[in-house]
Amino acid sequence: MTPAWVALGSNLANPLQQLRRAVAALDELPGSRLERLSGIYRSTAVGPGEQPAYLNAVVLVRTSVSPLALLEALQHIERQQGRERTRRWGPRTLDLDLLLYGNQRLATARLTLPHPAMTQRNFVLVPLAEIATPNLVLPDGTLLDTLAADCPRDGLVKTHWQLR
Ligand code: AMP
Repeated sequence: MTPAWVALGSNLANPLQQLRRAVAALDELPGSRLERLSGIYRSTAVGPGEQPAYLNAVVLVRTSVSPLALLEALQHIERQQGRERTRRWGPRTLDLDLLLYGNQRLATARLTLPHPAMTQRNFVLVPLAEIATPNLVLPDGTLLDTLAADCPRDGLVKTHWQLR
């Protein structure tokens, strides 16, 4: 079983409910066990124009399915929750990103590991550090705690202690 870290985000159609539904779906993933859930954080939207704030969280799943099969399962959950891909970085009901899959590095058309933007996003680093094993090291040798401690907290507020 490989530890896989997944980021959740929503800024449309009752984001809190979207995250909770996603957690229920992640709990049912075949070949996987949902092991840890971060609290929920509100973050200012990045992207074009005016957008509602996001709610974000991170979970740890232990899984025996391959990275690509896991990505497909995440995309299936996104589609079930009505995500429509309109424009890049536009508002979305549910966004699920595979942040890390063990120590794997991958750069294919469909999947990049670690997720390429994770180290620049406080709404990923802070909830990830909240639930990560102490001294979690990224595949390139960077210590997660250092990234999380150094990232600016602007626009990020913890709103719920528990994801469910
Ligand atoms: P987004 O609009 O941010 O959800 O990006 C979705 C696209 O990114 C999909 O077409 C995925 O195939 C691709 N992608 C590449 N690497 C990842 C990753 N680590 N996690 C999620 N999506 C990824």
